[in-house]
Amino acid sequence: MPQPLDILGLTRAELAIEVGILHGKPGKGAYHADAVFKDLYENARFAPELLPEFGDNPGLAERVRDHFRLALPDITGRQGDGDTFKFLLKVDGESALETESVVIPMKAYKTLCVSSQVGCKMGCRFCETAQMGFLRNLTAGEIVAQVFTARFVLGEPIENVVFMGMGEPTDNLDAVIRAIRILSDQRGLRIPLRSITVSTVGSVPGILRLAEAAQLRLQEGGLRGLRLAVSLNAPDDAVRSSLMPVNGTHDMAALKGAFLKWPLARPDDFVLAEYVLIAGVNDGPEHARLLADYLREVRACVNLIPYNPRNDSPYARPTPERVAEFFRLLQDLGQYCRIRGTKGDGVMAACGQLGNRAVSRKKSHAEARNPSTLETV
Ligand code: SAH
Repeated sequence: MPQPLDILGLTRAELAIEVGILHGKPGKGAYHADAVFKDLYENARFAPELLPEFGDNPGLAERVRDHFRLALPDITGRQGDGDTFKFLLKVDGESALETESVVIPMKAYKTLCVSSQVGCKMGCRFCETAQMGFLRNLTAGEIVAQVFTARFVLGEPIENVVFMGMGEPTDNLDAVIRAIRILSDQRGLRIPLRSITVSTVGSVPGILRLAEAAQLRLQEGGLRGLRLAVSLNAPDDAVRSSLMPVNGTHDMAALKGAFLKWPLARPDDFVLAEYVLIAGVNDGPEHARLLADYLREVRACVNLIPYNPRNDSPYARPTPERVAEFFRLLQDLGQYCRIRGTKGDGVMAACGQLGNRAVSRKKSHAEARNPSTLETV
């Protein structure tokens, strides 16, 4: 008996193909699949036998019910810091792997920061997730489950999704793109593409592939409107290479080329250039000048993120005065910029503080005993 498919991991088109086969009329599954999809994302329910569309075909309802499953991962932890809190979802039956997601209140709605991987391969020196190494990619269903859980189990009015949790989205791009298609579906959660941001460490091929998808409208199978954030974190190659190993593969000149290829849907759109401010490393006036020069031809908004120290970090957060000075100087140089608040740092839920080192320790012990049972990095 084949395992039932995780229904949260299927786009509506994929669901229609599967249902068509169950119907015995391949290519004719859209009517029933649309009904299942709508009920799933409007009422958080998977019960085809209750849908009027299946009224004259109870056999099909039964086959659909058996072929798919809606199995939400258990919530294994929740830590709050005021309105901002993170929650953990267990993703593998027996092991201790968890996704981490952060709910962040904005003005009238909430943003969910989702993970795309458990751990990360990128090795950025300032980031907590890097310390746990890479454990595994999340499936599209596990990414969608984070939003589904936040909305329906925790009752949070999530209207914005940012791929800024654990992991590097461009390193798991098939699952990330599929998850974005599911989240933005007009008959599903209807999260507008303009309210979804993919944040990348700066993988040039990853940005180019996303840029190609973002050229086309949703109806044409594209992701037009999707927002891009790039973790720049430095004004030149010397500083960036000292913080981010990825700069050895994709340097800042190549990155600028990719920035310039990003399709901006509207005149007031921009690419977000994330810049973690680290005391004495990249927060001086000379850095601000170099940064403004680097971004001169790019329509970018610099998002300044005062550093949230990871555990045992050699780096420190600059004083608020120094952050304000950097911000003012960038503005004076004509560079559009914002400062990101440090919500969640009391519970290790702020940017770059997600990750569970206990899991990576368990992993390395297990690997030493039996290297073939675990994914290799
Ligand atoms: N891998 C993706 C998404 C995860 S990191 C990326 O690199 O963009 C999300 C953001 O948090 C990035 O901009 C990263 O530079 C920032 N970040 C990482 N560690 C941080 C820390 N300790 N303090 C503040 N921001 C951090």
